Order: sequence, then structure tokens, then C-alpha cells
Amino acid sequence: MTSDKIIEKDLRIGIVGGGKRCKTILEMSHRQRPPMVNASVVIVGDPNPEAPGYQYARKLGIETTTDLEVVCERKDLDFILDLAGQRDALIRILVRKASQVPVLDAVASNLLYDVFSIQKELINTRRFLRTVLDSIQEDILVISPEYKILRVNESLLKKLKAPKENIVGRYCYEILHGEESPTGPPEGVCTVAEVLKTGRPHHARHTHLDRNDKPIHHAVSAYPVMEEGKVSYIVEVSRDVTQEIKTQEMLLQQEKLGSVGKLAAGVAHEINNPLTAVLTNSMLLLEELTEEDSMYEDLKTIADETLRCRDIVRGLLEFARQEAPAKVESDLNTIVAGMVSLVRKQFSFKNITIEKSLADNLPAVKLDRDQFQQVIVNMLINAMEAIERDGEIQVETSYDKRRRNIVLRIKDTGRGIPEDIRLKLFDPFFTTKDTGTGLGLSISHGIVERHDGTISVESQVGRGTTFTITLPVV
Ligand code: ADP
Repeated sequence: MTSDKIIEKDLRIGIVGGGKRCKTILEMSHRQRPPMVNASVVIVGDPNPEAPGYQYARKLGIETTTDLEVVCERKDLDFILDLAGQRDALIRILVRKASQVPVLDAVASNLLYDVFSIQKELINTRRFLRTVLDSIQEDILVISPEYKILRVNESLLKKLKAPKENIVGRYCYEILHGEESPTGPPEGVCTVAEVLKTGRPHHARHTHLDRNDKPIHHAVSAYPVMEEGKVSYIVEVSRDVTQEIKTQEMLLQQEKLGSVGKLAAGVAHEINNPLTAVLTNSMLLLEELTEEDSMYEDLKTIADETLRCRDIVRGLLEFARQEAPAKVESDLNTIVAGMVSLVRKQFSFKNITIEKSLADNLPAVKLDRDQFQQVIVNMLINAMEAIERDGEIQVETSYDKRRRNIVLRIKDTGRGIPEDIRLKLFDPFFTTKDTGTGLGLSISHGIVERHDGTISVESQVGRGTTFTITLPVV
């Protein structure tokens, strides 16, 4: 951006005439930061000591005099400004002044005054614009057609955690996306490029990863500023909509689960009876056969698969169970420790260590122990299944005093969950396992929700997954 200064040299000015214009000049040279000119008024002369400029100069500690000749005799001035505009006075000054000091007469002084005033207005406008930009909560960038950042507001500077000098003048794609060219983030087009191409505003949704590789979603709008039919600047406004998206997803999930729950309850009841009949009869038949019998294997398959179906139906009934949990005052740590010992022996063919870190200041919470055991076992088994051969599971409880929440974290170093399936995890029947039912997480979701808690997941493919459950302490 251009400098606010119009004259670079340090100037020492004497003023003759301490009226209103003198006051304005003093205000401009002393109050404007940064000053427009490196000029200091060093003396003000006016026969009337009540004149506003004269008074103001005194307030600023600048030398004042009612004897104009004192101004004229000063040899250290770069010039004298004649703001009095009286012919006699001007002649007196010209006669008396030190020979090397030029005098700007009233016309020239007026001209200079006008330049100062315009400059003052310009500075005020810039300051106003800066204040407006900085008081807006959205992130705002003004970008040149060459993709260089010309302005950045406070909100974005705070997020970038960098001083303005490190941002202004750099390429927007470099600062925002860490790219070497304006390609835009992988999942969207570059808004600036679109505006330059079409000359029209462009709106998009961008997803970036933060320092911890968590996705942050932004609603980005870019607007062209046109001059002579060409885009001369692009104003990009962007808003973090991550929380909004999360809330929308949660509401959608709840709605989805609610309707699937009703459907599931009906279907499960219908299927349960015939299934029990198939299972009982195939078991009875099996008892009458020996393993050598030709029918034995087929019948065994029927029994095993029917058992599997029964598990699914049970899960469905569980999932659809909308009744209030039987909550009793419980110590979550005890439930967690019990479930960890229960599953520890499973998957003994893998090399998995389970670390517990249980907070000793955990307040008691009211919960349905059976249901919570189910949630924890399901998460632990999922974590163990996600670990290929060697790995670690950390089970952690903590108390968030400020939010009055108990937090349970189950963290594994397993294969992780790709972003595209993360949204489906809590859907009933969503599974990536050959023999999975896809009901564990949807049931857990329902249970936690009926306890007024939340359940969330963070994951990095190849690094691991963390499930976090929060429960309110009431
Ligand atoms: P199921 O275990 O029967 O598949 P769930 O509802 O418990 O049903 O889990 C649904 C899916 O979520 C799993 O198939 C798996 O793809 C994914 N999943 C759950 N927990 C983890 C985990 N800790 N690591 C990786 N993927 C997981």
C-alpha cells in the first residue's frame, strides 16, 4: 500500500496567522498518526493571542508570539506559511524575514492547506475502512488480480497467528492453502480464479485441515471490485461454518435414527418369532444327527446363520428400544475398568496393550449400567478390530469442571476411518466388516443420547481413531 506521507523530508514551519486554518494544520501535523508530512510547526505568530490556532499551538507547547517579526527573524525555518492573507503583513514578512527562508503567500498556503485537507480525508477514510474491516467477525481479504493479498482484517490475522507484515504482499493461495499456484483446495474451485474469469461474485464451501488435521469448513464468498470494466480487486469474505455443519449433521442423524428406529422395531418383532422357530427346529434336528451325517454340515450352517440373524434382530430391538434407561448413581470408572478386563483376553492373537487413565475426581453420574457396559464393550471391540496386529488402546476418563461433563475417551492406533464414511458410522447397518451387523454404534448413539450425552469421533486414516463420549453431571 502507498505511504500516507506526501513529503518525505523533515520540514520546520513557521506560521503567520493563528486562525482556524492554523489550528487544522497543527491538528494534522501533530495528531495524525502516522503524520502525513514529516513537518513540525515550530512557531506561530499572530497579533491576537486569542486566535484558535494560536491557543492550540500554546497547548501543544509550540512557541507562539504576538510579534510577527519574531517569526521573520527565525533562520532555522524551511518556510513560512502566510495564513493571515493580509497584503501589508505579507510585505512586512518579506522585508523582515531571514533571506534564505521562503514564504508561501496566502494563495500558495491555501493550496497547501487544500492538499493537507484532502490528505486528511484520505487518511480518515482509510482509517474508517480499516475499523469497519476489523470489527467484522468474518475473515476478510482484499486480493489483487495477481492473487496478492492487499489487505487482511483482524479476525483472519488472529486465526493465522501472524503479523500483518507477514501476510500482506504474499499470495493468497500460499497463505491460505499452502499451495504454490492458484489451484484452490482439492475439493473446490478457487473463488478468486472464478471471479477473475467471470467478473461475477462466486460462493463456495472450502474444507481445510487445521494444525491437528481436523477439518474446518468455510463458506467463502468472493466479490469483484470493478474499475473500467475490469476486475481491479477481489474481496473475499469467509466464515467458519464447522459448528453449524456439525449441528446439522447431528440433527439429521437424530432424525434418521428416529425413523429407522420405528421401522426397525416393527420388522424385528415380526421376524423374531419365525426366527426362533427356525433356530429351535434346526437345533433339534442337529441333535439327532451325527457329524458324519451328510445333512449335518448344511443343518449346522442353517443354525449358525439363524443365530447370526437372531443377533441382528436383537440388536435391532435394542436399537429401537426407546424407553428411558434405568438410571442409577454409578461410578463410570468402575464400569470402564470392568469392561476393560472383560475384553482384554479377546483378540489374544494380536499384540494389543490397553492403557487406562481414569480420573480420580470423577463425580458419580446417573446411568443405566447395563446399557453403558454395552456401549463400552462395543467401542473396545471396534478398537481392537481396527488394529491390524500390534497397537495400543487408551481408555481415559476425565471431568470437565467448567461444562460439568464427564468425558470418556477410547483411543486406538488402528487403521482409522476415511472421511467419506465418517458420516455413515452411526447409521444402523453400516458396517465395513464381513460379519458385522453395523448396529453397535447406532445403538451406542441412542443410549448416550438417552443419557443426554454426546458421542463424537475423530480419526486419521492409518493413525487411529478416538471416540469421545460426554455425559452431563446432574
Ligand atoms: P460393526 O462393528 O458391526 O461394523 P458398528 O456400528 O459398531 O458396527 O461400527 C460401524 C463401522 O464403524 C465399522 O464397521 C467400522 O468400519 C467403523 N468403526 C467403528 N469403530 C472403529 C474404530 N475404532 N476404528 C475404525 N473403524 C471403526
